[in-house]
Amino acid sequence: MLPENIKVILWWTQFLRISMLLEKSIKELASGLKEKKFSSEDLVRECYENIEKLNPVLNVFVTLRDKDEVIKEAREKDKKTPVNSLLYGLPFVIKDSYNTKGIRTTASSKVLETYIPPYNATVYQKLLDAGAILIGKTNMDAWGHGASSENTDFGPVRNPWDNSRVAGGSSGGNAAAIAARMAVFGIGEDTGGSIRNPSGWCNITGLKVTYGRVSRYGCIAYVSSFDTVGPMARTAEDCAIILQVTAGKDPLDATSSPEEVPDYGSRLNGDIKGMTIGMPKECYGEGVDNEIKSLIYKAAEQYAKLGVEIKEISMPMLEYGVPVYYLIGTSETSSNLARYDGIRYGNGRNKFTSETMRRIMLGTYALSAGYYDAYYKKAQQGRTLFIKEYAKAFTQCDAILMPIEPMPATKLGELIGDPVKNMLADIFTCQTPVGIPSLAVPVGFTKSNLPVGMQLLGNMFSEPLLLKLGYFYQKVTDWHKKSNL
Ligand code: GLN
Repeated sequence: MLPENIKVILWWTQFLRISMLLEKSIKELASGLKEKKFSSEDLVRECYENIEKLNPVLNVFVTLRDKDEVIKEAREKDKKTPVNSLLYGLPFVIKDSYNTKGIRTTASSKVLETYIPPYNATVYQKLLDAGAILIGKTNMDAWGHGASSENTDFGPVRNPWDNSRVAGGSSGGNAAAIAARMAVFGIGEDTGGSIRNPSGWCNITGLKVTYGRVSRYGCIAYVSSFDTVGPMARTAEDCAIILQVTAGKDPLDATSSPEEVPDYGSRLNGDIKGMTIGMPKECYGEGVDNEIKSLIYKAAEQYAKLGVEIKEISMPMLEYGVPVYYLIGTSETSSNLARYDGIRYGNGRNKFTSETMRRIMLGTYALSAGYYDAYYKKAQQGRTLFIKEYAKAFTQCDAILMPIEPMPATKLGELIGDPVKNMLADIFTCQTPVGIPSLAVPVGFTKSNLPVGMQLLGNMFSEPLLLKLGYFYQKVTDWHKKSNL
């Protein structure tokens, strides 16, 4: 018999071991599972421990899977010979805009409150095939409409770093879940910042991929010509691993790209010495929070120490980003949401929130005869100018460094109560009509302990370069390791 105090110490050691699991990287988790140092069941249990403790306040899930059912699935995975994937046995969350066969999918709107899809989104199917385990469907701004996860019929998502503030949007549930260690990783959707904004505000890493890099099949459409499907996780390395599984041509999505999928993991290696990062002077002027600016300057200094050349560039078109984005965005969403007419999916159009109704009305107006040339067509011409502006910038640098949002996480009510402020919050993330990728990376905290992120933008299909820049930065900093648990 062991003496009582030794037993207590052993119990605590066990507890510490288990409670630290979700701090590990995907690579560490995969090798720990392989070597049977811990099990997938341990991981899932740890997720639910955090969910039970924190979800009543954070409100991360629209649909949380039954704990016993998920534990059973994990146990079965623990017994089986794993498929050859680093994601095998790892718990993940997915934004509620992805169709999951047999599991309710609402896009956080009452219109789809009882909708159970008969098929899986390609990205979800790929993760299931890799052996990952779904924990739940996360809360979001309805239809992707928002930057704060307040435009939801299931209650706002609160920020794990300050519960009086929002988690960001529209993939806010995902970001809060990862920041609160309720899952190892998540799949978000970024049309005009929805992965990057909540990643920055919750201190996680998120990748907006090149348009067409990941199949959109089964993703509820917001702006079909901008929507992208991307990973949200703790680190750039984790995002690379998830992208490896999810990227590629899909016969079910004609807009998915046939561009070859590189080996993202091995492309993290090598060096970043000699690369050039451009900082557009228009992004560091008035209207941007001073603490955000100085944290991003510090990140730039860090890159300079790593041998990267930092250069000031100019992108005068940036100020037109919001009108171009919102004219095309609302036009496409007015068309995409026309199908929810009460005939095919049940509930009628009176169930849309006022934010969504406003977007439908704006888009319908921009597309209507008589106004089409003045608004929609002008915005499409603006889109072409943006494409040229970014192409020019990439002749001067390999990547562009910008803030994600002009301010840290806002108080509840601040964005949803002010539609113009809500749109202007997207000033640095609304270049999505261009189709280029962008990586959001944590760079520190404000004096009141709110997380701040930077975004690195690259040319089409430059994910390997962006992930490498993020990876090198995270090797010499530890912001991404911090949590508020
Ligand atoms: N905040 C932006 C919007 O409301 C981004 C949304 C998104 O990327 N889904 O349109």
